[in-house]
Amino acid sequence: MFDDLQKRLSTAFKRFRVSGVLTEANMKEGLREVRTALLEADVNYNVVQDFMARVQEKAVGTQVVKSVRPEQQIVKLVHDEMIETMGPSDPTIRFEKSGPTVIMLCGLQGSGKTTTSGKLAKLLVAQERRPMLVAADLQRPAAVEQLKVVGEQVGVPVFSETGTNPVKLCQDALIEANRRGCDTLILDTAGRLHVDDELMAELVQIEKKVRPHQVFFVCDAMTGQDAVASAEAFNKALELDGVILTKLDGDARGGAALSVRKVTGVPIKFVGKGEKLDKLEPFDPERLVGQMLG
Ligand code: GDP
Repeated sequence: MFDDLQKRLSTAFKRFRVSGVLTEANMKEGLREVRTALLEADVNYNVVQDFMARVQEKAVGTQVVKSVRPEQQIVKLVHDEMIETMGPSDPTIRFEKSGPTVIMLCGLQGSGKTTTSGKLAKLLVAQERRPMLVAADLQRPAAVEQLKVVGEQVGVPVFSETGTNPVKLCQDALIEANRRGCDTLILDTAGRLHVDDELMAELVQIEKKVRPHQVFFVCDAMTGQDAVASAEAFNKALELDGVILTKLDGDARGGAALSVRKVTGVPIKFVGKGEKLDKLEPFDPERLVGQMLG
C-alpha cells in the first residue's frame, strides 16, 4: 500500500540537504518532487496546490536546527500537512435518542457498500446495538442475495422486498425495525459504474422521503481521482455526513485518501482493510500518514 508514494517522497526528501536556512531557492527542487509524488499518487490537483503552498509557507525561513537535518524538518511539515489534509479523526456515529437511527450508505457499484454494510452491522452488534440491514439496491438482484449472506454471517436481520421501489422499501423497513425492536437501519443503496442522473435521482428521493440521520459515502481508495470526482458529485446531490474509505489493504496509491476530505468537506469516518467483515477500523490519520511516509 502507498508503495510508490512512499518511494517517491523519500527520494524527494533527500533533495532538502542544505545547510543554514530553508529558502524558496534551495527548496525548489525538493518541493517540486514532493508535488510530483502527490500528483502521481493521484491526489486531486487543487488539493496538491493548496498542500504545497502551505508546506512552502511554513518551511521558508525555518531555521535549520543543528540537531535536526533539514530533510527531517520537511518530513515533519509534510507529515503534519497530510494529517491536516485528511483529518481530523471523527469515527463517531450519532444515534437518535428515540426511534431507529437510519444510516444510508451510498457510492459507486463495486466500491464496497454491501461489504461495508455488514462490517458496520458487526461493529454495532459489538456495541450492543440491534441493527437491521436494508437491501435498498433493487437494480441488481444479486446485491440482495449478497446482503442476505452478509446478514447471516453477522447474525442480523436483512429486510428486502420485491416489486416495489427503494423509497417504499426503506419506509417499510422502518416500520419493520420498530416492530422488531431494531435500533439502527443500514440502507445498502444501489450504485452504478459511473455517476448518472437516474441513480442520483433515486438516492435524492430516499434522502428526501426517508430522511436518513446520516449519509456515508463509500469510497474505493484504489480508484484515485475517479473516487474523488464521484465523491464530489454525491456530495452535491446529497448531504454527506462522512466518508468510509475501502480497500486500504490493497494497492491504494494515496490519492483518494489524501483528497476526499478536502473535496467533500466531510470527515473520513472509517476505513475498510479487507474483504472480511471484521476489517473495518476507525479512521486514524496518524497511522495512515505513517504508512505513506514509511
Ligand atoms: P458494492 O457494489 O458497493 O456493494 O460493493 P461490494 O460490497 O460488493 O464490494 C465489491 C468488492 O470489493 C467485493 O469483492 C468485496 O469483497 C471487495 N471489498 C469491499 N471492501 C473491501 C476492502 O476493504 N478491502 C478489500 N480488499 N476488498 C474489499
